[in-house]
Amino acid sequence: MATVTYRDATRIYPGSTKPAVDALNLEIGDGEFLVLVGPSGCGKSTSLRMLAGLEDVDAGGIFIDNRDVTNLPPKSRDIAMVFQNYALYPHMTVYDNMAFALKLRKTPKAEIDAAVKNAAKLLQLEEYLNRKPKALSGGQRQRVAMGRAIVRKPQVFLMDEPLSNLDAKLRVQTRSQIATLQAQLGTTTVYVTHDQVEAMTMGHRVAVLLDGVLQQVDTPRSLYDRP
Ligand code: ADP
Ligand code: ADP
Repeated sequence: MATVTYRDATRIYPGSTKPAVDALNLEIGDGEFLVLVGPSGCGKSTSLRMLAGLEDVDAGGIFIDNRDVTNLPPKSRDIAMVFQNYALYPHMTVYDNMAFALKLRKTPKAEIDAAVKNAAKLLQLEEYLNRKPKALSGGQRQRVAMGRAIVRKPQVFLMDEPLSNLDAKLRVQTRSQIATLQAQLGTTTVYVTHDQVEAMTMGHRVAVLLDGVLQQVDTPRSLYDRP
């Protein structure tokens, strides 16, 4: 577990004069589920990608547990990320998809087995461990992608519009599964969405971004009550 701090974190894409993310100051608590919401193009993905090390930080910095990670490569940050296009390995079973990162790290087999089975249980994937991704529904595939991310117990878990490829019914279902999963794991989580309903129902706090500038950060309740 970990706290995440953005300190005046700024990203200006090459060729652009206006920051995509402008002096972002945000602290995400240990075990917190924070939802970053705002319209398309407001800088949500850029904020997340800076934290993951996939995007340069042009000014300011980012800290995980007070450790400056601003210039660390992605692999040196203990972060797992799930995108909307959850690219699973098509030739591998669900089990092997989830085990892959741990195998690369030469984790002992018994430990891998326990981690995969635990994730499968949390994500209701136990019956599907021997299947290939193409024999799964979209929602199941998305859960495998999450399983693959959580098996190695990252300090920070990032999700970028993970539900946008699912149909409405599945989205509602998966929304609550993600919230439950996060509560069980207690992993510090940042979840990006443009969907206000997701923002108001899933997280502990909601950060509203507009045109690269953080507008407000509060609990869903307080945002809802605000006149
Ligand atoms: P969101 O995730 O909220 O949709 P983004 O972080 O993707 O927003 O984008 C924020 C702004 O930065 C937008 O104006 C977008 O056009 C711009 N942008 C995003 N990625 C790039 C890039 N690789 N190069 C140049 N501009 C980009
Ligand atoms: P490797 O390819 O590295 O030899 P395996 O695929 O044989 O690894 O799996 C190693 C262990 O993982 C097995 O001993 C088994 O306990 C467990 N395992 C593999 N696939 C499954 C599965 N579908 N369901 C449950 N456990 C599995």
